[in-house]
Amino acid sequence: MRSLQSEVEQRGRRILGLVDKHPESLFSKAGFYQRLMTLSMRDEQLKLQLFRFVDVLPSLRTSGEIVEHLQEYFANAHDSRKVSEFLGAGIRLARMVPWISGPILRWNVSEMARQFIAGRNPNDVMRTLRKRRAQRIGFTVDLLGEAVVSETEADEYAARYQNLLESLAGETKYWTDPLGKNSELFPVVNLSVKISALYSQMSPADPADAVAHLAPKLRPLLRRARELGAFINFDMESYAHKNTTLELFKTVFTEEEFKDWPHAGIVIQAYLRDSETDLRDLIDWGRTRGTRFAVRLVKGAYWDYETTKSRQNGWNFPVYLQKPESDANFETLTRLLLENEAVVTSAFGSHNVRSIAHAQTLADELGIDRSRFEFQLLYGMAGPIKRALVDMGYRVREYCPVGELLPGMSYLVRRLLENTSNEGFLRAKFSEKVSAKELLRNPCEILRGSRNGVLPPSNATINMTTTTPKTQPGAPYENAPLTNFALPENQEKIRAALREQRKQFGRKVPLTINGEKISTDKMFSSVNPSQPDQIVGYAAEAGIPEAERAVAAARTAFEKWRRTSFEERCQLLERAAEILERRRFELSALEVFEVGKPWAEADGDIREAIDFCTFYARQMRLIGRPRLTQNVPGEESYRHYWPRGVALVIAPWNFPMAILCGMVSAALVTGNTVIMKPSEQSVIIGAMLMEIYEEAGVPPGVLNFLNGKGSVIGAHMVDHKDVDLIAFTGSREVGLWIWETAGKTREGQRELKRVICEMGGKNAMIVDSDADLDEAIVDSIYSAFGFQGQKCSALSRLIVLEENYDRVMERLLGAAASARVGNPDEPGIVVGPVIDEAAYRRILDYIEVGKSEATLAYQAKELPPHGYFIPPTIFTGVKPNMRIAREEIFGPVLSVLKVRDLDEAIEVANGTDYALTGGFFSRSPANIERVKAQLEAGNVYINRPCTGAIVGRHPFGGFKMSGSGTKAGGEDYLLNFLIPRVVTENVARHGLAPEKTPEYRDEFLWPKQ
Ligand SMILES: Cc1cc2nc3c(=O)[nH]c(=O)nc-3n(C[C@H](O)[C@H](O)[C@H](O)COP(=O)(O)OP(=O)(O)OC[C@H]3O[C@@H](n4cnc5c(N)ncnc54)[C@H](O)[C@@H]3O)c2cc1C
Repeated sequence: MRSLQSEVEQRGRRILGLVDKHPESLFSKAGFYQRLMTLSMRDEQLKLQLFRFVDVLPSLRTSGEIVEHLQEYFANAHDSRKVSEFLGAGIRLARMVPWISGPILRWNVSEMARQFIAGRNPNDVMRTLRKRRAQRIGFTVDLLGEAVVSETEADEYAARYQNLLESLAGETKYWTDPLGKNSELFPVVNLSVKISALYSQMSPADPADAVAHLAPKLRPLLRRARELGAFINFDMESYAHKNTTLELFKTVFTEEEFKDWPHAGIVIQAYLRDSETDLRDLIDWGRTRGTRFAVRLVKGAYWDYETTKSRQNGWNFPVYLQKPESDANFETLTRLLLENEAVVTSAFGSHNVRSIAHAQTLADELGIDRSRFEFQLLYGMAGPIKRALVDMGYRVREYCPVGELLPGMSYLVRRLLENTSNEGFLRAKFSEKVSAKELLRNPCEILRGSRNGVLPPSNATINMTTTTPKTQPGAPYENAPLTNFALPENQEKIRAALREQRKQFGRKVPLTINGEKISTDKMFSSVNPSQPDQIVGYAAEAGIPEAERAVAAARTAFEKWRRTSFEERCQLLERAAEILERRRFELSALEVFEVGKPWAEADGDIREAIDFCTFYARQMRLIGRPRLTQNVPGEESYRHYWPRGVALVIAPWNFPMAILCGMVSAALVTGNTVIMKPSEQSVIIGAMLMEIYEEAGVPPGVLNFLNGKGSVIGAHMVDHKDVDLIAFTGSREVGLWIWETAGKTREGQRELKRVICEMGGKNAMIVDSDADLDEAIVDSIYSAFGFQGQKCSALSRLIVLEENYDRVMERLLGAAASARVGNPDEPGIVVGPVIDEAAYRRILDYIEVGKSEATLAYQAKELPPHGYFIPPTIFTGVKPNMRIAREEIFGPVLSVLKVRDLDEAIEVANGTDYALTGGFFSRSPANIERVKAQLEAGNVYINRPCTGAIVGRHPFGGFKMSGSGTKAGGEDYLLNFLIPRVVTENVARHGLAPEKTPEYRDEFLWPKQ
């Protein structure tokens, strides 16, 4: 008996033989598309630019704009020459006759899109479907569209699906099954549905909410499909939505109404590591349900997205990293599907002849008739393979996207990437002309043949090994990963932590001075802003006597701490980071209750605190040892740093752990002793940081925890002669007072006080006329309303160019109206309560000011009945001189300013007292360069939200009235906590000098410990 492998090879050769009779025209040399493909495959950098250009093109209105963009994208002479090749004319010529070249380019790109988009609308697509019918190819139709950012858009989408279904059913009423056998398994009408198009607020952390919103939207569609005898397939999108899609599928199709309906299908992506577990679970579910269902097995369309996102967030890769692993897993899952044919109908979605041949061979081996499963391929791709499969008597269905060019762009770019991928079968077969033997190799064998299971790196294989070990100086810094709330185990952990924290409500925390726990007569209560009658905890309140004791303790402890080696201090921070990590969920849960942070925001805050500890430890190791200033014979001159003395840390409540921990850790690691005063509103979290540092082994007096009123103890200590350094983050009013007060020298004061001062912002983002609105809207809403707009980096002024103002506003207002407002102890909440009653009243006052100055364009109506909830609010018609455009509001209030052009936009953005963050949405390389150069902000963000700075990656801090120009989480931050010192020694004796002077020497520590 022949082995399965040799059967697969033989089958593969047969398919390839049929394929070669009709070569793939998409990979021929002629035509615009073909030239684009050839150029892209030759040059990766150029490919990126070409695809970006294709992406922006449909949104450009005039020929002039098209040619301008062309020039900007290919300004580089080398690129420009190559691009001339594919344009058929030089860029210079294009500039001279934009009215000719603009439309030609647009026409070419439209034609290219038409190769992958089966029709603009339901009527249009019928022409294609009829043609395919004549070729004995079935269809599944998918609707292309912009990303859904609001519930209005989601409802429109649902209506479009209904329409499409009706129209397809009407038009194909008398169509029959091409194979005429087992046709009951394969309805003619087959609709592919994208779940994310039906609900705009899907949160990976909250599958239950998504299912609750999606099920009612789906039921009418499913009901109608059933009546019409159609099939509905759930497509699979990014990993973040995978569990929700599976959950939704199982929930809806277990309902009484749909339990016995066999015409439902879902996609399994073989590139996912957990796909086998998911498929087994689905099969078990199907068995219990007792009715057939279908699975479309694919490798997966989001490989680049998943790997990039995981790398950005420090997550384990959900996908395989080596292409043969996905191929091998596809084969494993093929077997699993076919072996369970009694309950599941299979559709194999692949253009890879090896994967297809394997499925065919295995089906034969298992005695499954070829009419009981199908092959699905994408419209516009792999035509010869479809034809070959039909000729062999297999069931073939084509996946046909329907929609307009503009919304279809992301789909088109995905297809272009797929066709030009180094790893892809189609490129190997039709462009590189790889041999049949190579194309049909067993992927398991390829993996076995590799060294230790690792293949030589290719362009698409991620190189995860770095040459420098992580702990070595100079090794790239790695942030702690964010918690991935798409994973059920993490959802469970945070829920358990929330339950646990609730039990601890009302706990009491003392002051810590010189290692002693001190209770006072006065207790301060910290409440849950979502439910102000819940007291999260009580904290002892310090008065002047306690402040004096703390300063004295810190002063005394300084003498020893300053002489402790920096290595010991670094290790203290690293131990604190480990404890923070261990207590991560507990601390996040506490933040949810104490300051009203949504889950992911709270987790981000703890992650940032961990990062501050590890990053500053790393930075201290880089600057800790005395370093030679210049190599001169006979003289050794070493620069090193001394700590400044006693540091007073005054932190805000909005990043209650991260900012406090960042300032404290920087002060400690540089050898200063610290009095930390957390905000009164987040004092329990502050007390936790004290606990953590104590467990990490901070010596008594080195870190002191003082809770009290800023106006009493804060003011006293700022003015104190024994305080040498003040690290402050908070309001402009207090910051300026500290700056001024610290400038006065008191009697007995040793040092000129250093003030590190980070204050507020009135941050602006500009939306250019060619911006990608799918991104701009989602990111603006998140930047303005995430954590209720209470981030100093939050967006407060959205500046929109008049050219696309109407479209931006239509989508923005819809998106605002859909943002989830509620108690953040529930997952998926975007807008929770503001911090306290004072903030609540102040923001409401500002809303009144806004109503008198500008136009109230949107205000949320439904709010939780208790708690300090402010409705997300948007004002339009705002002018730069209005109060709501100038003053920091620190709440979910967004002002929209309409401007003529980019000149005016930049002028308006910069016309403020502040300079903290700023942003720009654009796809014009020239405009992006201009904004990078001209926007006055400490942190400028292009095509992304303006909040969410990451330690080491986005050193954070502003200038003008936003701060003194320091950068938390930056390489030079620690220098603010240090005094530079140089020690020079003449080591020559009668002209005799040592040959070599070491670059570094040991610390100057005396007495030696
Ligand atoms: C009809 C149809 C419907 C589809 N529906 C969906 C869907 O709902 N959701 C979805 O996500 N995908 C879907 N796809 C799959 C996707 O769009 C691609 O077409 C498919 O992954 C290409 O695989 P292939 O077997 O045709 O080609 P091949 O060239 O054999 O495989 C390419 C695939 O391998 C994987 N890959 C590439 N590089 C690596 C690497 N370094 N390490 C590991 N794996 C790698 C990727 O998944 C890539 O797409 C569908 C495909 C078809 C044909």
